[in-house]
Amino acid sequence: MRIKTRFVLYITAWTLTLATLLGWLAHKQWTDYAQSRRAVGDVERAQLALKVFEMVSRERGPANAIMGAASPAPAVQATALTDARAHSDAAIHALLTNLQALDDDDANRAAMINALLQLQDDLQTGRRKVNAVAALPAAQRPGETIDDAVSTMISVASLASPLVARISGAAERRGNTLNDLLVAARAAAELREQAGQLGSQFTRALIRQEPLTRQTVESIERIVGHIDIMRMLVNNRVARCCADDATITGAVAQMNQHYFGDGQALVNQVLVTWHADVVPQMTTGEFAARYVPTMNPILDVRDALLLQASKQAITAQAEARERLIWLALLTALMALLLIVPLCVFGYRLLNALTTSANIIKALAAGRLDTPVPVPVRSDEIGDVLSAIAVLRDNSRARQVLQVEREALIAELHEAATTDFLTGALNRRAFQTTAAITVTQTSRRHGVCSVALLDLDHFKRVNDTWGHDVGDAVIRAISQHCRLTLRSSDLFARYGGEEFIFLLADANAENTRDILERIRLAIAEATLATVDDQPIRLTVSVGFAVLDHQCDTLEKLVLAADRHLYEAKQQGRNLVVGLPTGLAS
Ligand code: GH3
Ligand code: MG
Ligand code: MG
Repeated sequence: MRIKTRFVLYITAWTLTLATLLGWLAHKQWTDYAQSRRAVGDVERAQLALKVFEMVSRERGPANAIMGAASPAPAVQATALTDARAHSDAAIHALLTNLQALDDDDANRAAMINALLQLQDDLQTGRRKVNAVAALPAAQRPGETIDDAVSTMISVASLASPLVARISGAAERRGNTLNDLLVAARAAAELREQAGQLGSQFTRALIRQEPLTRQTVESIERIVGHIDIMRMLVNNRVARCCADDATITGAVAQMNQHYFGDGQALVNQVLVTWHADVVPQMTTGEFAARYVPTMNPILDVRDALLLQASKQAITAQAEARERLIWLALLTALMALLLIVPLCVFGYRLLNALTTSANIIKALAAGRLDTPVPVPVRSDEIGDVLSAIAVLRDNSRARQVLQVEREALIAELHEAATTDFLTGALNRRAFQTTAAITVTQTSRRHGVCSVALLDLDHFKRVNDTWGHDVGDAVIRAISQHCRLTLRSSDLFARYGGEEFIFLLADANAENTRDILERIRLAIAEATLATVDDQPIRLTVSVGFAVLDHQCDTLEKLVLAADRHLYEAKQQGRNLVVGLPTGLAS
């Protein structure tokens, strides 16, 4: 596997692992944050529900008072009832709006809304009953009707209690301390409700100025038992969650002093009076004026607990948000300091490696014009690229030297094999090449011939016009020979003013024809001109044809030379060779 592929796989695996880990952490933190956000909403809703509970409970005070008042009721009491009812309606409306905006699963939301609407309905019924009692003249109000109105109003509060439990339950499940705070707050609210109910138990007797019924006494005992349980619940939870919270413990102390002190003392005093079969000389309004204020510290306890719950939910949300932000920062930091540099570093390194490998391969293949990137940084990669550039330049210089050497060798070869004056082959080159041709031709029983050509009376040319003119004449004769010969023939300057030929595939007849043509052409040509005077010259040629006796170059040259000598002897301007019968 290529390093690049391995690197990409490694980085991918690494990034995926890290991303999974961070993703898991982010999901956990996000869930925490979402839950803490939800908890804030849940606490707020629990507060609204407890407010409904409180208002519905409170409404019983002025309702009881109006049932015990003269008919028509004094304006002060009527206004108090109207205000209390308005407060209940506002609290119900606020909770309903909140529930309707709640993004919860439909079943739960619908159940809560239905319970609240049921409560609203029952409240209307209770109010109608209260109004009906109040409409009667004070002396004609039947005890059962009053009891019915009171218990209907109490039942409305009883409906509120499970609704509060259901709404606050969501927030209570969100944490130990929050749970303690909310349960204690709910218990305080319940305590306030029971305390209110306890007060309501005296309504009928006070209105009618009659003894307490047995049923009422039992109810009072039951309610007092209930109150004790709620008080214990509040104390336990407060001891567990917030024994060091001065506001809450202070509120609890106030509650103990005022309600469990003054409030219950009043209740006991009234009860003792009744037990003595004496009807207390007190109106419901007077009783309420003394009893109701002692219940206020209970609500202070509830509110202190709710305030703390709310603070805690908000703090938890802020902390969760902070953790989420830290996680995001940590992720960004890791990407910035780890993954990105690793990718960039790896990419640069591998890229440089691949580029270098490709350039070196191209140089090895002889492509010396391959461009080498100019290093952008003076680091190790830059060093490698610079070294490769030097390597390439050296290779280029070596290539130039090689070309020059080859040209020089070719030049030397040319000089070694060529005659400088005529450009024809020199004697040595002729001998090397011709010897091979003769041997090969002899082996395959082919034909060829060797001829020697010598200028007639050439000394005179030199003597008369000088050596330069002599040289020109030699060049002209060489040119004539070259033009007449075939490309397969060999032609060389043999020395001085003598030329030698090797005529391939030529028998005696062909040889004579060719040589005669040369001789005639030279004889008729103007070989040079001096002072407008044409210089003409003849040549004598001797040749020999390859046969079984004359089968080497030496022998052929010797024979040709001999025939040349004969041509000179016979008067020059002749071609002499066998088998013409002219030679001896
Ligand atoms: P013959 O007909 O008997 O051959 O008479 P010849 O005068 O040609 O006699 P020979 O062949 O013996 O003479 C050769 C002369 O050619 C001698 C020398 O001065 C001249 N010669 C040889 N090489 C050169 C050369 O390269 N240039 C010039 N200008 N002359 C040369
Ligand atoms: Mg000669
Ligand atoms: Mg000569």
